[in-house]
Amino acid sequence: MIKKFLILSTLLQLFLFAKSQTKIIDMHIHSYSNNDFGGREPATDHYGIKGSANAEAHQKATFAAFRNFNIVKAVVSGNPASVENWATKDSNHVVIRGILMFAQNDYGIDTVIFEKMIRDKKLEVFGEIAPYYGGTTLSDSIWQPYLRICEKYDIPVAVHTGGGDPGGTYSWSPKARLKLADPYLIEDVLVQYPKLRIYMMHAGGEDWPEHALRLMAYYPQLYTDLAVLLWVEPNTQRYVKGFLQNAKEAGYLDRVMFGSDQMKWPYAIQKSIRFLNSLPFLTRQDKEDIFYNNAAKFLKLKK
Ligand SMILES: [Zn+2]
Repeated sequence: MIKKFLILSTLLQLFLFAKSQTKIIDMHIHSYSNNDFGGREPATDHYGIKGSANAEAHQKATFAAFRNFNIVKAVVSGNPASVENWATKDSNHVVIRGILMFAQNDYGIDTVIFEKMIRDKKLEVFGEIAPYYGGTTLSDSIWQPYLRICEKYDIPVAVHTGGGDPGGTYSWSPKARLKLADPYLIEDVLVQYPKLRIYMMHAGGEDWPEHALRLMAYYPQLYTDLAVLLWVEPNTQRYVKGFLQNAKEAGYLDRVMFGSDQMKWPYAIQKSIRFLNSLPFLTRQDKEDIFYNNAAKFLKLKK
């Protein structure tokens, strides 16, 4: 009986929650295959919650979150096989195909393969590109041929800004250095490719939120997502709250986009939505813009 009641109340909550929320575009979702599942992230998150058991369970739980929270589009990045696997299972046409890259030759990719992927519609967003983890920045010469192709085909670029997992430099990303995560280091890219559609991931992180905002001030084409800051630790939530308050007062909120960056923890999608909805200084319209309208504009989605 108690079990039945619990199920009913959960369903009711989901229904009410979904009702109160408009459509969502998630600009920051990660996919995996079994061979890279769990290689980067720790076994449990900051709150002690375990990630999905394997890549398949993770894909299913993430798709369930898409349905439950009215997520109509999601930029999915991972290894190319995992993105393709998700796209083939995506009967609701939610997945926008991205790619996760730390170095310019990850997965044996070169510019010829890259351009073919774009022409074959296997790549719709160039990102998450995270040069920080590979010891470079997006302004480095190794990334320029890719950026030229993105500009040519009007492919949006999604670049990691801010640091990564504390301690990662001692394990899976030995080349990562905090100084490489400064948003100012993508300024040359903005100058070189003024027509390029580009958004920062993580809004400069806890490390450089003010730099992210100033860069948005100088370059009106630059957008950002919020990503992992919305949920991963109380401290990142503190920073993102400040970032959003400042962005609102400065008048840049119309270029801020929701992204959950759920990694191995699909529950984080709901947690991120809840946190954003809980911020009292954002109006209902602000929230609708962050959850959907700003990303729809950035992605040039047809109405
Ligand atoms: Zn990410």
